[in-house]
Amino acid sequence: MNNVNRRDFLKLSGTSIIGLTLGGVALRANAQEQVKLDDPTALALKYVHDSEVEGQNCENCQHIQGEEGKEWRPCAFFPGKVVASKGWCAGWMKKVG
Ligand code: SF4
Repeated sequence: MNNVNRRDFLKLSGTSIIGLTLGGVALRANAQEQVKLDDPTALALKYVHDSEVEGQNCENCQHIQGEEGKEWRPCAFFPGKVVASKGWCAGWMKKVG
């Protein structure tokens, strides 16, 4: 490898490493934490991962967000976290539309 090629190779490697690092940060930022049962908001709202209220669960609640059919989805009451689609809390409200 002559000097020019070596310089280009190093430049390319450096760019690739920066790209990979930024990609990793983006992936981590997108990975949302599942709400824990001892989360203060979960306790206050009596949140459970498995609804015991017939006909009511996170999937058919007005406050659920994100992609339909996913097991864990964001909820307006738990910013930055995801709730179980089968879950329930005292904030449940029938989804309209
Ligand atoms: S408000 Fe409660 S019931 Fe509705 S989606 Fe969020 S956690 Fe589930």
